[in-house]
Amino acid sequence: AFCFAIDKVIPSHLASVHPMDIGLIRGYGIFDFFRTSHYQPLFLSDYLDRFIRSAAKTHLYLPYTKNELAQIIHDLIQRNDLEFGGIRMLLTGGVSDNHFTPTQGSLFIFCEDLDFPSPSKYEYGVKLLSIEHVRAIADIKTTNYAFPVWHSAIWKKEGAEDVLYHSNGIISESSRSNIFVIKNNKISTPDKHILHGITRKRVLELAPETEIKELSLKDVLDAEEVFMTSTTKKILPVTQIDDRKIGDGKIGPITGKLMEKFFEMEKSMILS
Ligand code: PLP
Repeated sequence: AFCFAIDKVIPSHLASVHPMDIGLIRGYGIFDFFRTSHYQPLFLSDYLDRFIRSAAKTHLYLPYTKNELAQIIHDLIQRNDLEFGGIRMLLTGGVSDNHFTPTQGSLFIFCEDLDFPSPSKYEYGVKLLSIEHVRAIADIKTTNYAFPVWHSAIWKKEGAEDVLYHSNGIISESSRSNIFVIKNNKISTPDKHILHGITRKRVLELAPETEIKELSLKDVLDAEEVFMTSTTKKILPVTQIDDRKIGDGKIGPITGKLMEKFFEMEKSMILS
């Protein structure tokens, strides 16, 4: 496989990062991740915008324009024959004398196999484990996922798919997904302390009637339907939170309809 490392495309096994890079020492870096389908990078423009925004907000130097990044990505898709796969863009904080001040970092763009949830999860839904937590600098896609990685041992042991973060009774998101709630046939989703997901954005286009508002943990537990959204999960129904069943514990009609619409939208993009 080939990847883009710093300033050129090279065989992936030759890519390296300096051990004193503050991406490693301090966890200071940013990334983004998207999918290809039939060799097309889906919603690439949105992912590039978010990556460029994350770099600017974290004061990291990104030496390529949006168009140049897109060209690098199209080149990698061809060279790696990436019909269906994931692509990760990563920008580190760079080697820094004081181990603190970002310098010119290293840019890596590489391809990955996709790890979708199993078909039965789309049929029966998944469980989330609620946990009191709020992500720091939530709207920047930083590489620092120390807390989710550390905590994953707990939700895995509980048979959950992931967590549901809440703080002072107000929910935000899951560790790698956004959350939508349906009550009285009305869809709503929170807007604060979240990463603004590209999949969330697509769902808001498919269901423009969605209300963007603060939601309590009680709102979610009392909901008729709940689903989570992310690049690799797409729209994944949530049918249990902790020991509580959501609605009747089955996938609800509004979630089912949106899953269909999302599937159709993706298909029409490939055909166009
Ligand atoms: N929230 C967090 C914290 C994430 O890490 C992610 C994706 O990685 C998302 C939400 C979902 O975003 P997207 O739909 O762009 O994958």
